[in-house]
Amino acid sequence: MIYDVIVAGLGGMGSAATYQLAGRGKRVLGLEKFSPAHDRGSSHGRSRIIRQAYFEGPSYVPLLLRAYELWEQLERETNRELMTPTGGLMLGRREGDLVSGSVKSAEENGLPYELLDAGEIQGRFPAFSPDPDTVALYERRAGFVGPEETIKAHLDLAASLGAELRFEEPVLSWEASLSGVRVETPEGSYEAERLVISPGAWAPQLLADLDLPLEVTRQAMYWFEPKRRPELFSPGRFPIFIWEPEDGALFYGIPDGLRGGVKAAFHHVGGEACTPETLDREVTDAEVSRVRERLATHVPDLAGRCLEAKTCMYTNTPDEHFVISVHPEHPQVVIACGFSGHGYKFCSVVGEILADLATRETTRHPIDLFSPARLMDTAARG
Ligand SMILES: Cc1cc2nc3c(=O)[nH]c(=O)nc-3n(C[C@H](O)[C@H](O)[C@H](O)COP(=O)(O)OP(=O)(O)OC[C@H]3O[C@@H](n4cnc5c(N)ncnc54)[C@H](O)[C@@H]3O)c2cc1C
Repeated sequence: MIYDVIVAGLGGMGSAATYQLAGRGKRVLGLEKFSPAHDRGSSHGRSRIIRQAYFEGPSYVPLLLRAYELWEQLERETNRELMTPTGGLMLGRREGDLVSGSVKSAEENGLPYELLDAGEIQGRFPAFSPDPDTVALYERRAGFVGPEETIKAHLDLAASLGAELRFEEPVLSWEASLSGVRVETPEGSYEAERLVISPGAWAPQLLADLDLPLEVTRQAMYWFEPKRRPELFSPGRFPIFIWEPEDGALFYGIPDGLRGGVKAAFHHVGGEACTPETLDREVTDAEVSRVRERLATHVPDLAGRCLEAKTCMYTNTPDEHFVISVHPEHPQVVIACGFSGHGYKFCSVVGEILADLATRETTRHPIDLFSPARLMDTAARG
């Protein structure tokens, strides 16, 4: 059988692409190295922040508006609540990148937001302990989605729409041919007209031909139990937050409805370079202490017992913008990688974009920022 499209890698992005393609009536084969919604890549740990006021760049906002629509569509189609709206605080100095960038993107895109001073932050969210110079952008529509839950939702719907999904079957190699693509796995060889490659932290392997300057880093996440006033930390009371303190070491928190605590972690701080094979999955007491110390200063009642800690990987580009494109050499191949630690909230819309590119080589969505050409130029300049 010759498929219309093969999707290599059924994590956050690949599962969404598979669902979109199957929904368009395409004969889709999805190939995944591990089991559905596994914890070996970048999409596990029960929660991922979603938000729209985007300090990483105002041009992401139109994509976020569409991502929210598609998450809502996924909720309707599965008849499940997949988004947990908690509200969100971006805290720091008014002139810092986090607050000023979030305000800029909200202003440019007409997003509703409130700017709170330290007193207002404490009055409304008494769990936080900001110093007098800290302000926060508050966004009501921020919250979180569950990566395992939404990957499973995308995969289940894709399968119900006729997609063939094969797990524990890694893509060993792929090649573009005159008529399309050929993909080799330990089980055999498959042909298709198009190929979507969404390999997460395995991009340096599956996209070795492009030699993109990607750096995979180890990131740890920690679930803390409040040591006082646990009622302040439930998803109904406690917002997701990102904090940019004086030293610039961004950290964030997400209420964890399941265990009653909060998942907290640093963002990009201390992420040692690794590969999926060399990733050290042990989290040390010293690492836990560093996060607890940060919480003790900024969210003091949360600095209790660490209930659980897990590692995960970011796949970073030098400018921390994504790579989403038709392959520069092969128009029948579409690539998605380099989500640089902030991609999950976009999975729903990236699935739509990848399906657009795999069916008509173009998309109505603004993706110029994600062209691999910018990185290949950088690589060439050294
Ligand atoms: C700790 C942590 C916290 C984060 N927090 C947030 C957040 O709050 N909000 C947010 O928006 N983003 C967040 N992110 C980033 C986000 O989770 C990632 O950007 C996103 O999950 C990347 O999705 P992906 O599809 O590229 O990778 P993955 O979901 O890892 O999918 C890649 C898939 O490809 C498969 N694969 C690889 N090679 C092969 C092969 N040869 N054959 C077959 N299959 C293969 C892998 O097994 C994997 O399933 C966070 C990331 C981490 C690590």
